[in-house]
Amino acid sequence: MFIGIDDTDSLDGMCTTYLAALLVEKLGTTNYPKLIRLNPNIPWKTRGNGAVSLEVDGISDKIKEIVLGYVREYARIDDENTNPGVVFLEKINQKNRKLLFGFYKKTVSRLVEIKEADKIAELVNAETHKFNNGRGIVGALAAVGAELSDKTYELIAYRKQENYGKKRDIDKNSVIEMNRITYPETFDNIDPETGGILIAPRGYDPIVYGIRGENPEILKKAWGMIKPLEDVERVQIFETNQGTDAHLRNKKISGLKTYDCVILKGYVNRNPFVIEGGHILFGLSDGTGEIDCAGYRQTGNFRDIIKGLVVGDKVIVYGGLGKYPNTLNLEKIKILRLEKLFKIEPPLCCSKRMTSAGREKGFKCRKCGKRLSDKFGIAKEIPRGMKLGFYDVPPRARRHLSMPLVRMGRNGVCSA
Ligand code: ATP
Repeated sequence: MFIGIDDTDSLDGMCTTYLAALLVEKLGTTNYPKLIRLNPNIPWKTRGNGAVSLEVDGISDKIKEIVLGYVREYARIDDENTNPGVVFLEKINQKNRKLLFGFYKKTVSRLVEIKEADKIAELVNAETHKFNNGRGIVGALAAVGAELSDKTYELIAYRKQENYGKKRDIDKNSVIEMNRITYPETFDNIDPETGGILIAPRGYDPIVYGIRGENPEILKKAWGMIKPLEDVERVQIFETNQGTDAHLRNKKISGLKTYDCVILKGYVNRNPFVIEGGHILFGLSDGTGEIDCAGYRQTGNFRDIIKGLVVGDKVIVYGGLGKYPNTLNLEKIKILRLEKLFKIEPPLCCSKRMTSAGREKGFKCRKCGKRLSDKFGIAKEIPRGMKLGFYDVPPRARRHLSMPLVRMGRNGVCSA
């Protein structure tokens, strides 16, 4: 039986992955449970818009009773912003697999209505259970439909209940050593810009560490190298779509919709400018429309690249449309062509450079007094100080779904 669950946590605690880890122990699973990240731009997410699915063997009625019992016990149903959804599917034939996969592809990349999930659930004979407004059904169904051609894994260690809400301590050196030995097979352990440790989240959720990597074996090795400074209740490995760019779709600006996750190719048509808060924006045009692209303050040095762009540069941008209408929140950028920039230098006369005679007044020679018009100025190329290629935001600002550059080209995977 296939089980999908979503939207069980609140900012005060819980995490849907924890529920999945408990169910794995209780029910046993044939494969790794899936942690499926969905559209990071939708406003209802608690944190990382993750849903889970698992496949279990056993007597259906018993399984359903256990799952729904756990959801009632652990989900923060009393929080009005927590809207759990649970999906059960006995079997999935090829036709339904296609429908579910299509639904996942849409949910990871665009905005989906609850009624669309209801319709797909009916078509594929899924049994659905909704709590509060039931929006969790969207993620639950998408998680069951997710088939991952490119995938990564995450090992999540959970805290003991008595530590919930307390500060997470970590032996920083053990993480640095783990990263030294296992990177890039594990990734996003440390932020290179700040040196910050990224495997320990903040907040009230039950997670103490999460390590991401290419396969379960490397995660087990990495976990063995970490020295936790608090007791760990349990550890669970998930198969995930994190770090795969599964959310991005090639689009044209004229066809963009709110919350879309997109790849756009075009030209810079407005020089970068800084807005309040230190965010840097530039204008992009692709012939069908124009959009502002933003490197937010949180993206640190990535903004230096954005700041260096000029009108005429040809780029591919990767990102999501967030709450600001018509602004793309950049996840990475590929610079395809840099416009040549020139400055005009005075010509030579009497073995010396002439001087400017004033704005639009040409040049004059200090020695012999000769005058030349502006058209005799010598164009000198200004080095752009940047190279063609990919640039991405630092790991601390990265969306869970965004593919780090270090993963590009692996197994023929590339989002460009
Ligand atoms: P949790 O750990 O509980 O899963 P979260 O940060 O992952 O926390 P949720 O609390 O699950 O966020 O909130 C996301 C909500 O948005 C869920 O109800 C999910 O079903 C729904 N959702 C996910 N993707 C989409 C989408 N593309 N369109 C509409 N709703 C979506």
